[in-house]
This record gives sequence, structure tokens and C-alpha cells, in this order.
Amino acid sequence: MVRLTVGGRGGKGVFATDASSGEKLFEWQAVRNGTGHTQYSGQVTLGSTPSGTSYNLTDSGRGNHKTYDVNKGTPGTPTLFSGSDDIWGNGLPANNETAGADAAYGAGVTWDYFKNVHGRSGIRGDGAGASSRVHHGNNYSNAFWQDSCFCMTCGDGRGNARPFTSIDVAAHEMTHGVTSATANLVYGGESGGLNEATSDILAAAVEFHANNPQDVGDYLVGEKLNAGGKPVRHMDQPSKDRISEDYWYEGIGAIDVHHSSGPANHWFYLASEGSGAKTVNGVNYNSPTSDDLPLTGIGRDKAALIWYKALTTKFNSTTDYAGARADTVAVATELYGATSPEVKSVTDAWAAVSVGQRHDDGTPAGPVFESTTTVPIPDNGPAVTSPVSVSGVAGNAPAGLRVGVNIIHRWRGDVVIDLIAPDGTVYPLKPFNAGDAGINVTVTYQVDASTEVANGIWNLRVRDQAIGDTGHIQSFRLTF
Ligand SMILES: [Zn+2]
Repeated sequence: MVRLTVGGRGGKGVFATDASSGEKLFEWQAVRNGTGHTQYSGQVTLGSTPSGTSYNLTDSGRGNHKTYDVNKGTPGTPTLFSGSDDIWGNGLPANNETAGADAAYGAGVTWDYFKNVHGRSGIRGDGAGASSRVHHGNNYSNAFWQDSCFCMTCGDGRGNARPFTSIDVAAHEMTHGVTSATANLVYGGESGGLNEATSDILAAAVEFHANNPQDVGDYLVGEKLNAGGKPVRHMDQPSKDRISEDYWYEGIGAIDVHHSSGPANHWFYLASEGSGAKTVNGVNYNSPTSDDLPLTGIGRDKAALIWYKALTTKFNSTTDYAGARADTVAVATELYGATSPEVKSVTDAWAAVSVGQRHDDGTPAGPVFESTTTVPIPDNGPAVTSPVSVSGVAGNAPAGLRVGVNIIHRWRGDVVIDLIAPDGTVYPLKPFNAGDAGINVTVTYQVDASTEVANGIWNLRVRDQAIGDTGHIQSFRLTF
């Protein structure tokens, strides 16, 4: 079980003609289109099927996807939505059909995205529609996918008032089915984070592709599930949720897959839009990079295509972050050529989330010395240091010595950070700030160290000065 934690009355042979030539422009057969009044996506067209004197929510134009009502029961007792008017819901959660309309619509736009953009017919690629079940449980604030029933199941949310049936939730869950049918990424460790990220990445692509004016495309997950619009996850800077990771680190596979997905979600945002501040469809983003260097994106369509192709032709069940980097670079190389800007951006976006080096790393600014030894930072305890030994650099350090700091910490305001030169001179990098509740310190500081001899042992000194949150030094890097 994989959770979120987030036309007309067409009879047979009806067709449209071009008035000037009389040629058929398109035709359709026995696909009935009802009207959905959804909670999140406004008035939409839903595929339905006549049954006697009524209709049911079976989408014959999309593999006979069916939408069921479990009516606060368990997924074992579903009832196919049916009614006499082919009008589904009234836009309000109290009407049982409304969540059904949202789920059916979400499943439909997901089908259309995979079909129209990637040529994939259905979740498994076999033309068969999955099914969706709504009104699961009581106040159940989640949704989940199960391969066993080839279906997604959606709760009604807090107060049974915000069902987990928005476009991105439906697309997220359905994409778990695509992953199962392709790479089958194991749902734990780094592959689990990549499994979750795949669902967030392709759900964002679906949401943009659906182009619904009531639920516009964004790089947020589940923004419709809270009345105030607060998302469950942010792709431009995953740590905004206070628990997801922005950057890869050794050991990230040990945390919950909905949080270890952060670096891959962040990769997708950076590869699509680039770093820094940007407004897309009215939503403001500001995406940082772990190396503090800028990045240019290649556009969402290319980034999503690269991810989809990597998922379906390269990834396997145990692919980890390093593998995802290699596979997406390989796909970009196949699609656009080894010297293409796409390969450079894909590579640089991985470096920007601390997976591998930048594309043009053959021409660094100067000699680089780095420690990647993990150093635990005791809670409200004594200072710890991470040493780096510098040799072979003539003369003094530069006026713009770059000090790359990567500290994993749950409340970064607790930590005080200093750089200590070989002769013991202390260069303060970051003061204590109890009010700074952000997580992690991933910053490249510039220090005027021009009075220091370069060669010798440099130390990064870190001290946690408040009770309650701990962390560790992940890496410390000096660029001369
Ligand atoms: Zn999921």
C-alpha cells in the first residue's frame, strides 16, 4: 500500500465534419460524457456509460476506469457510482458524488497525460483502466494505491470536508501504479524516496498538462487539501515542510520515503525552472542549490520526459540516487546529445542537490579540499570540529576563500559555526539565532583569509547551543 502522505451525447458513429471539404475530422463511438461538479476543479466533463435508464461512472473512453463509493466503509465494499441524470456532484463535500467526480476527473487527466504525452495507454500500458474509490474511512486524511486491486483509495480528509481527490493526489497515486509496472522501485531506502518522488514529479506534470483554471499547474503537492492552501510538499525547496530534505546525504535512505524524496523533487524543479526566485502560474518559488551556484532549467516538459524515460527504460527496483543521476544523464544524452545544454542542466541539477559533480567540473575555481566524514553534533554540548588538511597550495589563502558547509540539523538556529585557520585564527561564519527554525545549513561562505598561510589543518567548528534538536556535519569543503 502506497500512500500520499500525502462532450456531448455521442451515439454510435457521430462525427464532426469540416464544412468546406466534408471530410470527417474526428469521430467517436459510444463514449458518453457526463458533467462533474467537482470540489477542486470546477465543472468538468466526465466519461460515463449508460446502464438501462441510468448512467454509471465507467469511463469507456479511458479503459473503462471505474469510480466507486465505499461510503465510509473499507475498500472491500465498493458501489459503482450511478445515477439517472449523468450529472455528478454539486461541488460540495456533503454530496457523495462530488468526491467521486473529483477522483474520476483526476484519473481521467492522468490517463490523458500518459497517453497524449508519452504514448502510454493506461497505468500498466495495456489499455486497461484502473479504478478509484472514494469516501474511505472517517476523517481519513490520506490516499493510497494498491496493486492488488489496481486501484487508488481516497479518504475524506479532516472533518470529512477536504477529500484526498485533487488532481495531484489522484495523479500521484496512479503514478505509483506506473512505477509498479515499470521500474518497480522498492518502497524503502533510497529507491523508496525515488518511488515517492516519481509520483510527485509526474503528478506535477499531470497537473500542468490538465491546464485546469481552478487547479492550475504548480510544483506543490496537495495544496488543495488544506482550506488555506498550505501544501503537503514543496518541490522548489522541500525543507519548507520542515521535514523533507533539500539535498542528498549519505544515510538519507534511512528516513521516511516521503522525505527522502526531497532531493529528487528538488532536482525536478531545478531541472525544469532553474534556481532562484521565479513565479509560475501565480505561485512564487525560490529554489536554492547546495553548492550555492546558479542553475538554468530546460523546461518542465523535457525534465518530465527525461524522468519518465529513465523510469520506464533505465531504473530498476534498487536504483538509488547515484543511479538515478547516471540514468537520467544517459537518457538526456540519448535524446539531446552528449554536448547538449540538456545534459549539462540535468547533470548540474543533480550536483545542486548534492548528487555528483557539476558538468563542467574539469575547470574548478581552484584546488578543492573536502572532508565528508560525518561528525555528530551533541545537543547543547561541546563544540565539535571537522578537519581538512590542505597541502600543495603556495603562499597564502585567497581573499575569497570559499567555505562549503553542509550541516544536517533539525533547528539550524541552534548552531554556531566558525572556520579555524591552521594558526588558530577564528573566522565566525554563523552566529546563534534561536528564532531560526529552518533545517540544515547548506551554504558556501566567502572568507577573506588572505593573511593565512594556505597549507595546514583547517577546521570547521560547530557547537549546538540549545536543547532539543541535534544534527551532524555532513561535509566541509574549502576551495582556494
Ligand atoms: Zn506516494
